[in-house]
Amino acid sequence: MMNIFKKNNKLLTVMTAVIMTAALSACSLQMNRLNDEKPLYSSDDSYRTVYEIFVYSFCDSDGDGIGDLQGVISRLDYIEDLGFDAIWLSPICPSPTYHKYDVTDYKAVDPEYGDLSDYEALIAECHARNIRVYNDTVMNHSSSEHPWFKEACDYLRSLAPGEEPDASACRYLEYYNFTDKESGGYSRVLGTDWFYEARFWSGMPDLNLDSPLVRAEFRDIAAFWLDEGCDGFRMDAVTSYYTGDKNMSIEALGRFVSDVKELDPDAYIVCEGWSSQADYSEYYASGADSMFDFEFADSDGIIANTLRGSCTAERYVSTQLAEQGLYASFNPDYINAPFYTNHDMGRSAGYYAGEYADARVKMAGALNLLMSGTAYVYYGEELGMKGSGKDENKRAPMQWSSDPDATGMCSGPAGMDNISMKYGSYEDQVKDENSVYNYYREAIRLRRIFPAIARGDIAAILHSDAGCAVYIKVAEGCDPVMIAINTSSEEVTVKIPEMYCDYSLLAGTLNTSSDKITYRSGTLTLPAYDVAVITKDQK
Ligand code: CA
Repeated sequence: MMNIFKKNNKLLTVMTAVIMTAALSACSLQMNRLNDEKPLYSSDDSYRTVYEIFVYSFCDSDGDGIGDLQGVISRLDYIEDLGFDAIWLSPICPSPTYHKYDVTDYKAVDPEYGDLSDYEALIAECHARNIRVYNDTVMNHSSSEHPWFKEACDYLRSLAPGEEPDASACRYLEYYNFTDKESGGYSRVLGTDWFYEARFWSGMPDLNLDSPLVRAEFRDIAAFWLDEGCDGFRMDAVTSYYTGDKNMSIEALGRFVSDVKELDPDAYIVCEGWSSQADYSEYYASGADSMFDFEFADSDGIIANTLRGSCTAERYVSTQLAEQGLYASFNPDYINAPFYTNHDMGRSAGYYAGEYADARVKMAGALNLLMSGTAYVYYGEELGMKGSGKDENKRAPMQWSSDPDATGMCSGPAGMDNISMKYGSYEDQVKDENSVYNYYREAIRLRRIFPAIARGDIAAILHSDAGCAVYIKVAEGCDPVMIAINTSSEEVTVKIPEMYCDYSLLAGTLNTSSDKITYRSGTLTLPAYDVAVITKDQK
């Protein structure tokens, strides 16, 4: 069997081939230590494990069926216990829609969610727990109900037929892209022969990011939320900033990033560029900390395909190794942003069918959480919630309880289908040690116990084939870890090369069955869909 070794251009760790049939190593039998016995690593920077909260559907505190900020506060014990140390809030600013990606006031909280004092309380509660808070920030477009847009349209309507607009008469004219030429992606200003760019929908007019006034507005908006205690921003739709012009989009993002970093060098910025890896990797040139790693996400990404067997474990690790160099070539300080699903994607419990579906649902969570950088988990994935098709279904009420009238339960977006869940609610799953919930909790704990998982780069791949990979992650200031994954439905046995026999301690495991992981005399036996973390034994 071949061993595959790669050169890591960041860590300069070059390995040589090792033959699988090596003589018995000196590695000795070690005890399997339970994940729960070890303290969690406490981050003081942006390497975190982030919980994406779709606020509307997460937790309702006042009985109107709509999630709100006090609801989020009431579930911080839950979030903290799972091991998350940051949250990404879906947009909270006033908006006419339930999803609130079309903003009418960038410096306020939508009354459905509470007010600024609730936001400040949330920040205080989060910071007391070392949980950071990232606001979803929509700079590509505003709502057509935003006063900026309404005032600009009112001005255009006030013009006499054939009269040229005067930019000095209405400052908001330059906030948007108005034209008197009708074309695709543009909508008519009602009552006029003027059109405005609105690529997503007529209710979302594209902002003109060329305008120094718009740039100043967003610098001001960032300053406002940073003053409120916000720790960073999740930037919506950055690849749409300039439709068809990537370089302009990267420049506009870069201007915002430099404004934010000037206001607060520790503020963190993660961006949504839903496109190919070759494309979104270039956005690291903006100086943004993180780009969501779409290559691994969704029903057709590397994680899901690896567990379906249509992608090899070898590719899961070799792609991570390759992207380390790719992303660093655009931003040496990049922090990858692995995620598996989000509010725009079908729930992952629907990705798998058949005998191994449950094991695959669980292990997919691990394949996301074992990745380097700041990993994201969409709320409810830790319960294996269902929901696909229309967007509303992907944003179903968090299943705190199977009783829709239980405390905190939301009604969900209007128009959502009646979704039958595959797994029980949180109330049911918390009591079941084999639940998806408890698997996710263990996977997050593993990530938090061994900081090299998040902070490290892959320094060597010791073994990789279709269904199994063994690799080492190394990070400055952290103990290195060896990670072994079996993404197949068969038990695998791997002989660890002699030169790694100082990795002697089976320090953490994730099991999807009662079959035991063993590591004896340098031989690792990994049951189907299981994960082992092996460390040097310094105790
Ligand atoms: Ca509410």
